[in-house]
Amino acid sequence: MDAPLLRQECFIGGTWQSGPDQLDVCNPADDALLGTVPLLDKASIHRAIDAAEQALPGWAVRTAADRAAVLMRLHGLMLSHLEELASILTAEQGKPLAEARDEIRYGASYIEWFAEEAKRAYGEIIPSPAADRRLFVLRQPVGVVAAITPWNFPCAMIARKIAPALAAGCTIIVKPAEQTPFSALALAALAEQAGVPPGVLNVVTGDAAMIGAELTASPVVRKLSFTGSTRIGALLYEQCAPTIKKLSLELGGNAPFIVFDDADLDAAVAGAIAAKFRNAGQTCVCANRILVQDGIHDRFVAAFADAVRALPVGRGDCDGVRVGPLIDDRAAARLESLIADALEQGAELVAGGERLPGSLRMFTPAVLQGVTSKMLCAQDEIFAPLAPIMRFAREADAIALANDTPAGLAAYLFTRDAARQWRMTEALEAGMVGVNTGAISSAVSPFGGVKLSGLGREGSRHGLDDYMELKTMWLAA
Ligand code: NAP
Repeated sequence: MDAPLLRQECFIGGTWQSGPDQLDVCNPADDALLGTVPLLDKASIHRAIDAAEQALPGWAVRTAADRAAVLMRLHGLMLSHLEELASILTAEQGKPLAEARDEIRYGASYIEWFAEEAKRAYGEIIPSPAADRRLFVLRQPVGVVAAITPWNFPCAMIARKIAPALAAGCTIIVKPAEQTPFSALALAALAEQAGVPPGVLNVVTGDAAMIGAELTASPVVRKLSFTGSTRIGALLYEQCAPTIKKLSLELGGNAPFIVFDDADLDAAVAGAIAAKFRNAGQTCVCANRILVQDGIHDRFVAAFADAVRALPVGRGDCDGVRVGPLIDDRAAARLESLIADALEQGAELVAGGERLPGSLRMFTPAVLQGVTSKMLCAQDEIFAPLAPIMRFAREADAIALANDTPAGLAAYLFTRDAARQWRMTEALEAGMVGVNTGAISSAVSPFGGVKLSGLGREGSRHGLDDYMELKTMWLAA
């Protein structure tokens, strides 16, 4: 593809570096080869850690306004290269171009937000307990940060980490997912143009287990920010223990989407479409189980299934497509096995669930009704365009069903009853709750989960905290 930002080398210490071995990167829509990236060796990962360590003092000592100015230049460059970034993203990830453009804008909004927050990283003066003492709290950058990110939001998940890291005065080494490294490298190319100094942002590609092991074992790396599966998150948590790193973990979800009898039906259907089928169902905050109260159940299922049948499926670069291909064959096989398991245990397929003829991994979005907690699609994170519908009678049943999962990232509820909106929000074990909306993410609000969905929050005025340490100063008069 003709994209000057499509870089096939890694970015270490301000220089573009290749290596003897390469990894192929293919378009999930047709398996066409898009390019290659280096399969770096251990020595290269250590060069990246060294580069980040050397760049740290110079970057940390800059004024917040200086760092903010660099980030704002990066923000501007992302927006002025929006079309190119979006086409790279769709080519390597598969999502519809309209969603890719939204992701670039969303990612850029984090760069802008933390550029602004950099200037508000206030310390504290604490009223002293002793007359001859004064007590101050400074906020300082954590140091060298490592970031490991997934393929489902290849731009935004990185922007959410490099923005607060750079704003706080940290330097960072990013390891993007193997399937989607080009969006990360394109961001590095823009960061270089924006004037991010050499070594402040490094992007490395290669064997995930080796890179993860080197980054987590290094005493120089003081923080790991990981977005991905709970399984790998737990492994990295363990690997970070010997060096007591600060950790942010944005892990998997199993969001309940609860529709009460008194809900606005049209709004609930629109919310469920948005919360379920964005990125072909491959988002961590996707509605995973749709819980519908008895009185509205049949009307909801009929209206929702009609709306689902109307969603155009196809290549992300075709006009009007709403549901693109799944990321790989494993994801496609998993979707088929989740549907087969549910049907075997008595669920009914109301819509979709078929592979598009002639396509590698595109599916008509599926709706199942009569789903129970025993079925795999209710227990596991689906990560595919499949909407399982479960039925409930009372509010207490909805709460019990909703919380019956080790995950706790997002939850949604549709009800016009104001008291119930508060009651449910307080009762649901989730980091984020959408009330009468299927869209819950913005740079201004804290994003993150409870239980096995992770640690820490990205975005909002709290997002900088994960990249800063508090230092207390006692001053004797
Ligand atoms: P994943 O398999 O955990 O991979 C995520 C990242 O970890 C990739 O860069 C991967 O590299 C790397 N990785 C894999 N094995 C590793 C190891 N042993 N050591 C170090 N790094 C390793 O997750 P995924 O399938 O790509 O992403 C989907 C998951 O991410 C879902 O569970 C989703 O819910 C979660 N997610 C959470 C959020 C959130 O904010 N909570 C946001 C988006 C996604 P390779 O690609 O090179 O294998």
